[in-house]
Amino acid sequence: MAAQKLAGVKGMNDLLPQTSARWQRFEEIVASWARSYGYSQIRTPIVEPTPLFARGLGTVTDIVEKEMYSFRDALNGEELTLRPEGTAGVVRAVIEHNLLYDGPRRLWYLGPMFRHERPQRGRYRQFHQVGVEALGYGGPEVDAEVIAMGQRLWDDLGIEGLQLQINSIGDAPERARHRQDLIDHFEKHAELLDEEAKRRLHANPLRILDSKNPAMQEIIEQAPRLIDYLEGPSREHFEQLRGYLARLGIEATLNPRLVRGMDYYNRTVFEWVTDRLGAQATVCGGGRYDALIEMLGGKPAPACGFAIGVERLLDLVEQAGGLGEGDAPDVYLISSGDGTMAAALHTAEALRARGIEVLMHAGGGSFKSQFKRAGASGAHLALVIGEDELKAGEATLKWLREGEAGQGGRQVRIRLDDAPEAVGRALLGQTDED
Ligand code: ATP
Ligand code: MG
Repeated sequence: MAAQKLAGVKGMNDLLPQTSARWQRFEEIVASWARSYGYSQIRTPIVEPTPLFARGLGTVTDIVEKEMYSFRDALNGEELTLRPEGTAGVVRAVIEHNLLYDGPRRLWYLGPMFRHERPQRGRYRQFHQVGVEALGYGGPEVDAEVIAMGQRLWDDLGIEGLQLQINSIGDAPERARHRQDLIDHFEKHAELLDEEAKRRLHANPLRILDSKNPAMQEIIEQAPRLIDYLEGPSREHFEQLRGYLARLGIEATLNPRLVRGMDYYNRTVFEWVTDRLGAQATVCGGGRYDALIEMLGGKPAPACGFAIGVERLLDLVEQAGGLGEGDAPDVYLISSGDGTMAAALHTAEALRARGIEVLMHAGGGSFKSQFKRAGASGAHLALVIGEDELKAGEATLKWLREGEAGQGGRQVRIRLDDAPEAVGRALLGQTDED
């Protein structure tokens, strides 16, 4: 009797071979993009102590209230959470390892995040983020630089149509004054608030502005705007940022309702949005979080960063035609007949030692069926070792892309000993011809 099939966890996806080449290419592009801005990679654990997120993100937030995968370690009783975002863990590590002891740091990360949401296009329970964190930098030039980084990445990936929305949510005293007016405003329209908004009204009224409930959009639209409460340094910070963005030619739309989903932000907040992904319109979100490091027990230091949703971004990349990714090998190695497999294994290793990508046919079969596989692999060349060739210490090199696989293509005999050089030359010729 066949065993029952097991399925993966809902909303957590396998990355199958047809898409993993795109992810790999994307990861390469991201690594060199981050390097070009002087960012170093940091890799933190996927599991963190639960209080890190409660304290870091704020208890009255969507993530902490209803999206976290939290559990008790059955062995020692520790309260743990699968990380729902990257910033809290990075800041925890930076404090723990005293990384800011000799000045500021620019760090980036890439990895899976976990949120218990309703799965749909662009919204999963395991998804991936690329993020950057500029730690120890207080000036608006760093806000401008991280925003420019986003624009450059979209350009590097060949995607268009992302719009930048920015806002400033000021500093704590400004938010405190705004908060009271906000509560007054919503209390006047209490009958229009949903249950969640009522609950948040006194705990965290700013979060109400983040609500996606269509029935509440009008009172949100009429709410007092934080941007009108800014004064002195935070107003100047925002004006300087807008000046830098104008100089960089980056168009930014002021969105006074933009508040972002975590409590750690202050001053600059921004999102990159698109109309090409249906309901899940935000590809990247970030801003300044000058109080977080101190809140998590570090020496006070300002900071700024953002996180990109990789699945949403790659959806756009795919719509734009991809990254020229593909995992076609250079050579498909065909062999058939007595003693030829040992020669094929040995020759394949000799080619790889020269940096040539070889897909060696395994599992036997006729020349005809092997040539069929060779054609389907997308390889430039087939290298064929049959009994005749082997006896002569030779192989047949065949160009696959110039004719029908196994039929029309040009072919030459080469010495097996000489295969790495001959194949290397043929591949160079190939790229010249392309
Ligand atoms: P949303 O409003 O779409 O729920 P968010 O404000 O919760 O997004 P952030 O916490 O700012 O998102 O995360 C940064 C980015 O990560 C988002 O802009 C989005 O591209 C991506 N992201 C967030 N949650 C998910 C998810 N569940 N599945 C896929 N991508 C996600
Ligand atoms: Mg969310």
